[in-house]
Amino acid sequence: MINCPIPGFQLSRTRVAADTTVYEGELEKVKMPCPKCAGEAYGNGKGEMLVRDVSVGDTMIGWLVHPQKYLCKSQTCGQTWIQPILGVDRGHKMTHRLVDFIVNHAAEETASSIANDIGIDPKTVADIFAETADAALESRTIDTPRVMGIDEVRLGRKVRAVIVNIESKTIVEMLPDRKKETVLEFFKGLPNKEKVEVVAMDAWNTYREVVKDTISGARIVLDKFHVHMMATNAMEQARKHVRNRLTKKEAEGMKKDRSLLLSSPENLKSGQKLQLNAMLARYPVLSDCRSKYCEFREIWKAHDPEQAKERIDNWRRGLREQDDLPGAVPTQSPAAEFFDDVEKTFNEWEDEILAYFRDRTTNAFTESMNKAIRKLFELGNGYTFESLRRKILLSKSGIKKKTRKLRVPAFAPLVMGFYSGQGNAVGYEEVIVEENLGIDPVAAAKALSEAWCIGVPRE
Ligand SMILES: [Zn+2]
Repeated sequence: MINCPIPGFQLSRTRVAADTTVYEGELEKVKMPCPKCAGEAYGNGKGEMLVRDVSVGDTMIGWLVHPQKYLCKSQTCGQTWIQPILGVDRGHKMTHRLVDFIVNHAAEETASSIANDIGIDPKTVADIFAETADAALESRTIDTPRVMGIDEVRLGRKVRAVIVNIESKTIVEMLPDRKKETVLEFFKGLPNKEKVEVVAMDAWNTYREVVKDTISGARIVLDKFHVHMMATNAMEQARKHVRNRLTKKEAEGMKKDRSLLLSSPENLKSGQKLQLNAMLARYPVLSDCRSKYCEFREIWKAHDPEQAKERIDNWRRGLREQDDLPGAVPTQSPAAEFFDDVEKTFNEWEDEILAYFRDRTTNAFTESMNKAIRKLFELGNGYTFESLRRKILLSKSGIKKKTRKLRVPAFAPLVMGFYSGQGNAVGYEEVIVEENLGIDPVAAAKALSEAWCIGVPRE
């Protein structure tokens, strides 16, 4: 007989079938006072329960136990109860060690493969994982980040807010939505709020309001990439505006217009410069937008908040006062029509933009983490919010890091593990990099799916 997981079990017979062994027996008699009135009890017959246990080889093991039923002697009380079976999860009719086995394997294997191994229904496996996971999440202590990122991820038709620790590159929490009451509840419940020094976010006013209300000492930084994306969109809108008004023949003359217009001037070869300048000379709107775009990019090279402020002010002035010759009526730059979103963001988020220039915090990790979550969500064939949240938060660090070998051009500067495209390559060398899962969403999703057992059926 394998070692018995049920304390006080007294074996009376063993039934052996082809692939199953069932040990039948009684539980040690115990005197139990009434749980309601503490009075004495009558025996009131016996129950029966077949308890599943871990398998031994190909043999499934079960324990058939007969717990005592009781009835309170006091007629006014009338309470009935049943003897507890130690070592057993009554709800699932399984030994605790079988439950532990399932939970320990659920992180690396699919529910159906575990279910197959032990001969039970995959839904039961998924349920057990969910229950244990929820209990673990309930009792976990949140490690409050010093540098926090908050962002949202669109999954199916829902938008979920994700809170991360930018320094440790881990996920702190995923919220069901980004409504004020939801975000506020999280921040109110966050322990050791005073630890938070910086919060990076995109231009969603609810986040800013809630952080200001709950963590007064934190510096809020608007994510730089968010503003950059707006400027890129503005340039793109202008290009499409011009292109849509061209004849087919004229349009053919505009080759590579997108990449030329979005390029940084220092990266253009002389041929490209000529091509770009010819385009700008032909279309003054593009010329105007391109110069605002380049000027916008220069803002981010400022050395400190003061210099950045000066550049932003100049940029804004230039957008509204095209001609400041004495006596001239100020006119609006043609770019104003396209860059008004950027201008609005500069106006409404100036403090948070200038805060970036103090320590260059960005939300880049959050954004790429979100890409990975999205990928995981797609691979998982539409996990519910709850099951996705469990898997994300219960993986050890929120994200698995791997090291791998990378062939890179020698002496080329490595930016976060990836060849930045600058510098002169003189051959190749192999370097070991820590795979930063925040960079490559596909690699991230792959690692995540390995860690979080993609393939658990929809729960
Ligand atoms: Zn009683």
